[in-house]
Amino acid sequence: MNTIPHWINGAPVSGTDTQAVFNPATGQEQARVVLGGDADVDTAVRAASAAFETWSESSLTQRTQVMFAFRQLLVEHEEELGRIISAEHGKTVDDARGEIVRGREVVEFACGLGDVLKGSFSDQVSRGVDVHDFRQPLGVVAGITPFNFPAMVPLWMHPVAIATGNTFILKPSERDPSAANFVAGLYRRAGLPDGVFNVVHGGKPAVDAILTHPGIEAVSFVGSTPIAKYVHEQAASHGKRVQALGGAKNHAVVLPDADLEFAATHITAGAYGSAGERCMAVSVAVAVSEAADGLVEVLQRKAREVKVGPGDVPGTEMGPLVTKAAQERVENAVGTAAAQGATVVVDGRGLKIDGHEDGFFTGPSLLDHVTTGMDAYQDELFGPVLAIVRVDTLDEAIDVINANPYGNGTALFTASGEAARRFQRRVKVGMIGINVPVPVPMAYYSFGGWKDSLIGDHPIHGPEGIRFYTRPKVVTTRWPQPRQQVAAGFNFPTSN
Ligand code: NAD
Repeated sequence: MNTIPHWINGAPVSGTDTQAVFNPATGQEQARVVLGGDADVDTAVRAASAAFETWSESSLTQRTQVMFAFRQLLVEHEEELGRIISAEHGKTVDDARGEIVRGREVVEFACGLGDVLKGSFSDQVSRGVDVHDFRQPLGVVAGITPFNFPAMVPLWMHPVAIATGNTFILKPSERDPSAANFVAGLYRRAGLPDGVFNVVHGGKPAVDAILTHPGIEAVSFVGSTPIAKYVHEQAASHGKRVQALGGAKNHAVVLPDADLEFAATHITAGAYGSAGERCMAVSVAVAVSEAADGLVEVLQRKAREVKVGPGDVPGTEMGPLVTKAAQERVENAVGTAAAQGATVVVDGRGLKIDGHEDGFFTGPSLLDHVTTGMDAYQDELFGPVLAIVRVDTLDEAIDVINANPYGNGTALFTASGEAARRFQRRVKVGMIGINVPVPVPMAYYSFGGWKDSLIGDHPIHGPEGIRFYTRPKVVTTRWPQPRQQVAAGFNFPTSN
């Protein structure tokens, strides 16, 4: 059986401890992945530290040329990488290609680094004195990423980190580890020097080794909120800069003036696409007053039409969940919702796909009359379950969203500009869609939620990414004429 190795200093590195990697569509173990710890992280840090000496001295042009070449390789290998992701994650190949495209946009942002990294200059701030600033890389930085976007989420991090002159250690999810090694190979072919991009696989021991290693300057984390809080606390207490993006419960509000067919079509795709395993998935539809009955009617029709099957079969819209445990968790949550008084309008439990009876499939579920006290509302289910909460007014919908501990994404479906403006100004959420169900920002903006969806103060990629992976220097300069005397005051210097 294939064992997926670490990738350190431009070469595969094996290990003795391993864990199974499954094909979620068949339920079968298809490979094993090595599990790293202190020693592997230390080896990677040494390689990345050595590489930093030269990489941080390379020119902007050299770095962006690697990014241009890397981008081209991502284009050429989109299908191949998409299939690798689909085989370990379960999502459809087309969906996987979509995540590669969205991740590639961050590479394109990094290709324009020369523009975004420009410093500023102030002439004559005092007589004969100028001030300019510039930013420098941090050193060795690390990324710890979730299973649900094995290409895109790491791509939110490493192109920006590497283009700004840092060296990088990726600790991907142990559930779908192959994409990270494939990307490492593409970087190598793009001309990235060995040691600049490294992959250490593993679970908690590998993460803890990263959080405590004194040679790592900064940690980027994306995953569930409890682990984001842990990572934030540990990394900060070990003196590291840290960005930590957590979980989500995303609400789509539908007003009575919305086109219900349009809203339901987009909410269905946002709820069940990638089997609901997206941090921007729509998991709650908030139906306002008389929108409710009509919305439920269209949503249930659309939920029943979703084509569930293996991700590599053309025409499949929704694949299996990532693990058997995830399948059981989601199906139990539907049962609990029913027991707590929700109406199960569409029940996805117990779905069997011909020829894939052991796959981790569950069908789309639609729950109506969900209240905010129920587990189905409180918990991030991370599966194809859409809960409908009924309210009377837009303001009540906003109150529901603002009382939720998460604040990643939200959407409003309406024909009213006034309602849209009120919504976007009052809602305590980081990313907002108006008639757009999954409002993932473009790479030249930054991605990040509020409240429990982002711990600390650093959204990811775009301008915030540049800030995160660099630190500023401000230089105050005077070039006196030869033998010119400039008085030195004993008081604190002020300009004149
Ligand atoms: P997870 O938190 O279980 O794992 C994320 C990473 O942390 C993995 O690399 C994993 O190996 C590591 N990890 C897991 N348990 C750990 C522990 N006890 N100690 C140290 N490290 C640990 O998340 P997941 O199940 O892989 O991904 C799904 C979650 O990620 C969801 O909550 C989803 O909302 C969230 N997510 C958030 C965003 C965002 O942008 N906010 C994006 C994608 C996913």
